[in-house]
Amino acid sequence: MKSYYLGELTWQEVEEFLKTHDTVIIPAGSCEQHGPHLPLDTDAYDAFWLSLKAAEKARCALVAPPIYYGVSIHHMGFPGTVTLSPQTLEQMAYEVSVCLIKHGFKKILFENGHGGNTPALESAAQRVKAETGAFVAIDSVSLIPDFLEKFIETPYDAHAGEFETSTTLANRENFVVKEKIRKPKLTLPKLKYAKIGLKEAGPKVSWAFMTREISDTGVIGDPTKASREKGEKAWRLAIERLADLLKQLDEM
Ligand SMILES: [Zn+2]
Repeated sequence: MKSYYLGELTWQEVEEFLKTHDTVIIPAGSCEQHGPHLPLDTDAYDAFWLSLKAAEKARCALVAPPIYYGVSIHHMGFPGTVTLSPQTLEQMAYEVSVCLIKHGFKKILFENGHGGNTPALESAAQRVKAETGAFVAIDSVSLIPDFLEKFIETPYDAHAGEFETSTTLANRENFVVKEKIRKPKLTLPKLKYAKIGLKEAGPKVSWAFMTREISDTGVIGDPTKASREKGEKAWRLAIERLADLLKQLDEM
């Protein structure tokens, strides 16, 4: 294959690919503030980047053009952020899936780079399954819990903190504004069950927030603990696991 990105192929190349494989990844991200030091498109860029790396390794799935906007209403207090309503994202994910299924794809993977998209993507996945019978899976940084447990040192690491700064240092270092990296001042609700973060374990409740009200910089977590080495480790493991998942989907 000259490329595993569907957007770079011709219709005849897609037709040919579908004779032997039927998995497609739809990356989903966001255009939202990522603190004073990371690019607005971090979630979309990373979801697309990871999808392509894994597809190139597995050689049995194509990557559709990413959904570059997501549900980011909680970040709207910061310039540059664009949000879709959950209904719009759900509908877009649903319609893109149905088109791809119409051409012969039978397994869809939403590779999701932004936690705020998860409810809408889950809802789209249910509809696609119920109406077409296709298999739909969602990965929202959910394949590397062991990495997070072992290498992410800081509590409440949810947004533009230790994890995302490390992964951006590893795949787009020139877009990290290093002199602006600092620990934010967080004002979290005084409830012991209201936790936030990629690796916070339960018991816990989820809660709605506006980032401006809980973080002075937009960061939730501690980016001063980030390193390029941690990011490279995370990417290696994420690519390996995602490629493994693609091979399993191919054989299903
Ligand atoms: Zn992000």
